Amino acid sequence: MGVAFAKRMEFMKASEIREILKITENPEIISFAGGLPAPELFPVKEMKHVTELVLEENGRQALQYSTTEGFVPLRRQIAERMNRKNETSVTYEDIRIISGSQQGLDFTGKLFIDEGDVVLCESPTYLAAISAFRAYRPVFKEVPTDDDGMVMADLKKILATTNRVKFIYVIPDFQNPSGRTWSLARRRQLIELMNEYEIPVIEDNPYGELRFEGEMLPSLKSMDQKGLVIYISTFSKIFCPGLRIGWIAADSRFLDKYVLIKQGADLHTSILSQRQIAKFIEIYDLDAFVANIINVYRRRRDVMVETMQAEFPGTVKFTYSQGGLFTWAVLPERIKAVELLLNCLRNYNVAFVPGDSFFPNGGVTNTLRLNYSNMPEEKIVEGIKRLARAINEY
Ligand code: PMP
Repeated sequence: MGVAFAKRMEFMKASEIREILKITENPEIISFAGGLPAPELFPVKEMKHVTELVLEENGRQALQYSTTEGFVPLRRQIAERMNRKNETSVTYEDIRIISGSQQGLDFTGKLFIDEGDVVLCESPTYLAAISAFRAYRPVFKEVPTDDDGMVMADLKKILATTNRVKFIYVIPDFQNPSGRTWSLARRRQLIELMNEYEIPVIEDNPYGELRFEGEMLPSLKSMDQKGLVIYISTFSKIFCPGLRIGWIAADSRFLDKYVLIKQGADLHTSILSQRQIAKFIEIYDLDAFVANIINVYRRRRDVMVETMQAEFPGTVKFTYSQGGLFTWAVLPERIKAVELLLNCLRNYNVAFVPGDSFFPNGGVTNTLRLNYSNMPEEKIVEGIKRLARAINEY
């Protein structure tokens, strides 16, 4: 007897880097480590008005229990936006509201993964997806990536030689951490393989709308004829994350299961938050609001990339991201990103996330993720200059 935790807890460790990065709360430090939206862009005044309206018009319903599936008017608004922006043809019945897309990732793990099952993902991939899935104890198979997305020859080989693959998890638009976007050809090829093997694809798309230049590419969901793509998205990056509103768009055979899981997890997502967003979309122009975010982030991306071009040694390669929140740098192999971070914190008051933990099976030690959405332009310039000095000194 005594306190005995479940085995899965052995796989849920606090990250050392997260502990180290706690000191970046110190305002002296210029931190590119987070992944936060710019809070100065949050529509605080508008949300005050919206909240008043929601409480005046539907106060009791907004504070009562609600349905697991989510608030129908919001699901209709989401379907309308997806069809306009992501080239899908969905209705509200294809949408379920979740508490942030992170909840969708956890539920996906719960839905599909038995111990020892295989999850295919990009290498590198989103850290908190790794954590969410890891609790269910899968084997991660990392599929190599290049500037156009997953390398299809590698994916093919892995699919042909691996049993128990439960799903393929991808972030095709402005990926976290790499900032890269899949080409149209790669999207088509993935859909072909998905159809051939009849394996679900999880399309995680929090950043797709934050495109700074070029044409938006069709979502995987829009190319899916067999109902195998499970599309997960969120208002966190195009609106504000604190409301914790995300959604899943998928075939009903999946949605029904997600609803069962959600009933056991939290019954439903905050109906006050859902009504607040729905009212905001009803009375304000969300597209114009997103356009403003894009303008601010584009300038920050420009400033970061231009300063990197000017200051970093030529041996450092980095992504010119066309949208989203991140750029990604690859250092010469002998440079250990974790050591560089420690030196940066000790001597330069600048921070970033070493890329190591974005590789579920480890082994890559010379990459960094840099966030530009949460820092004013002049600090980006200063921070990148400091980082360049630390790299040159290494
Ligand atoms: N997926 C990806 C790729 C992300 O980068 C994030 C946020 N950093 C999430 C999911 C989770 O976002 P949220 O739960 O706020 O919707």
